[in-house]
Amino acid sequence: MTAAHRKIFLVLLLFLGLGGTSAIAVSSFLKSSASTVAGQPSTSQSKPDFMTKAIVDIKKACKTPPTTVANTAPETAEGTATLTSSTVPPQTVETPTKSLVEAQESNPCISLSESIGLTQTVAEEKVSEEKNEPSLPEKSLATLMGFIKPSPPTPQVEEEPKITLPPAAPFGQIHEQAKLASVPILMYHDIVAKKEVFFDVTPEEVEAHFKRIKEEGMTPISPDALLAHLRTGVPLPNKPVLLSFDDGYGGHYQYVYPLLKKYGYPAVFSIYLKKLEGKTKRTSVTWEQLKEMSADPLVTIASHTVTHPKDLRLLTDDELGKEIIETKHILEEKLGIPIRYFTYPEGKFDARVKQWAIAAGYHMAFSMNDLNEGYAGESPDLFSIKRFGQSSIEKAIAKAWGGYPAPLPPDQFNLTTSVEKQEFTLDGTEIVLVSGGKPRTIHADSRYQVQDILKDTGAIGGVDGTFFSLKSLNSNILIGPALSSNRGFVPGNKGENPKLAGRPLALITAKGVKYIPFNPEKHNTLEGIQKESSDGTWISDAFVGGAWLVKNGKASTPESFNDLYGFDANRNRAFWGINRAGQPVVGVTRTMIDSVNLGKMLQKLGYRDAIMVDSGASAAVVYKGESQVSYTPRPVPHAIALYPADHQEVSGPNFVQASVPKK
Ligand SMILES: [Zn+2]
Repeated sequence: MTAAHRKIFLVLLLFLGLGGTSAIAVSSFLKSSASTVAGQPSTSQSKPDFMTKAIVDIKKACKTPPTTVANTAPETAEGTATLTSSTVPPQTVETPTKSLVEAQESNPCISLSESIGLTQTVAEEKVSEEKNEPSLPEKSLATLMGFIKPSPPTPQVEEEPKITLPPAAPFGQIHEQAKLASVPILMYHDIVAKKEVFFDVTPEEVEAHFKRIKEEGMTPISPDALLAHLRTGVPLPNKPVLLSFDDGYGGHYQYVYPLLKKYGYPAVFSIYLKKLEGKTKRTSVTWEQLKEMSADPLVTIASHTVTHPKDLRLLTDDELGKEIIETKHILEEKLGIPIRYFTYPEGKFDARVKQWAIAAGYHMAFSMNDLNEGYAGESPDLFSIKRFGQSSIEKAIAKAWGGYPAPLPPDQFNLTTSVEKQEFTLDGTEIVLVSGGKPRTIHADSRYQVQDILKDTGAIGGVDGTFFSLKSLNSNILIGPALSSNRGFVPGNKGENPKLAGRPLALITAKGVKYIPFNPEKHNTLEGIQKESSDGTWISDAFVGGAWLVKNGKASTPESFNDLYGFDANRNRAFWGINRAGQPVVGVTRTMIDSVNLGKMLQKLGYRDAIMVDSGASAAVVYKGESQVSYTPRPVPHAIALYPADHQEVSGPNFVQASVPKK
């Protein structure tokens, strides 16, 4: 530390108030720094101006009331509601489902009305009473039968379509979209020809890992790419991984660097200054080697303190400042590059240590906890980034996923991506999504498990389709008109159709998908359906779904479900829709949830539009021939399938034969 730096440092400590008040001053700092630092371009730090900036920021922070930064995701009302709903024991909601099935099997009249969800709700009864129509006895009967007078389709106030994106994450926070991705960071220590301790890795083992990464079709990324992704949600390559090497061992230059060049893999090396003095037992990288490596675009150098204290939390503010700030300054000066990343020695930090890393001007800090390994997006914030130990490589790469592709305008689609499965748990609800490919419906000749409907069709995944008659176990009668690629157009029952007015009519063409309110007068013929094609593209598939769960990027309100039967009940729910990236996504909840909370969840998961398909006992999603639910769903006659983009469609009678199992 030069005399000038010591002076500035003293001033900084004065602002922090030293002693007991420093923790408060520092913890209140994060929030205010958001406004002062967030606007800066991430590459603006070529000169180490961190001291002055930290002081200015801390000055401002002193005027800001203390805030906690530990809880980065505040509990929302909807989160609480979801949590509550998911704790309902399954048997309490199973019973009505079973009795409904029994009632449906024995009484086709009830089955039709209930499966299409036309039982009137209390809310709507009130509205009808105000209008004095229909009279009470009529209404009760209607309710019982499920054939109530349909309310006229509500006039559609079409909102200006726009790309819907979660807001940008505040400084230091992780973007909502990035939280959905799974980016593993692998951590290595020394690489030696002959192992001495458990964490030693041989060059052969490193190369074996590099080969595994290649085999898996993974793309190693730089910390800059990771940071951009975590801050903005911008997608990474399909299966990303970040390689990180700690402590600056000689083996990093001798073995790892040549391997990086051979494979073209980027990596981050975390350096502590004392190591470079070469006085440690193990070999260390030299300044010269480090300079050579740091000039290579594949290599990023991160700061790892001056002396590598075993636990930064035990240091005084004075000591922390030296370890965290001085190391950045010296590395920048000696290597002539900005040092943007920090790695906590032994992964140990607390709120105070984190504030010092922020004050020093770092953009992201890596942690490590053997007992709490995780993907980058699972970290609480950018200064607590989780990693996996290199021995966890198989676990780490198994779920690696770079996130959804970039959002598209709402009238554009991306039907050319590969079909992939993702699993999420949000607010206690477990959900499985299968996204990508191009959607088509299959209308089977009877009722089957979804995997049997998809078998031999070339579809990679799918979900059970629309509501159907439970009249008999081998009926393939759907509720409402349906057009499928394999069976052609089948009109809906004229008596039932009016009750479906206003429900989402799903229309599929080779270019995209559209959900419009069903109009019984217009949509019960093939010609009527084809008239809805805005550009004359042939509509290959159509059916009437249960309700909108998400519309134009917004979750549906309870009111929008009108009289849909059991919309507020907790069930396993199945759905399909289009995400912000214009990809089709089918899904099912493995935990029971009501429609309103499901809509909120799907909005968070990046859906542009989503509609409910047959749920409860029928809810089923299949991926690569495997059912994705733990129960055996009720057999169904209709499925929405996701095909690879290059799938050659087989139409006509052959397709029907191929799409159903042999009896
Ligand atoms: Zn270390």
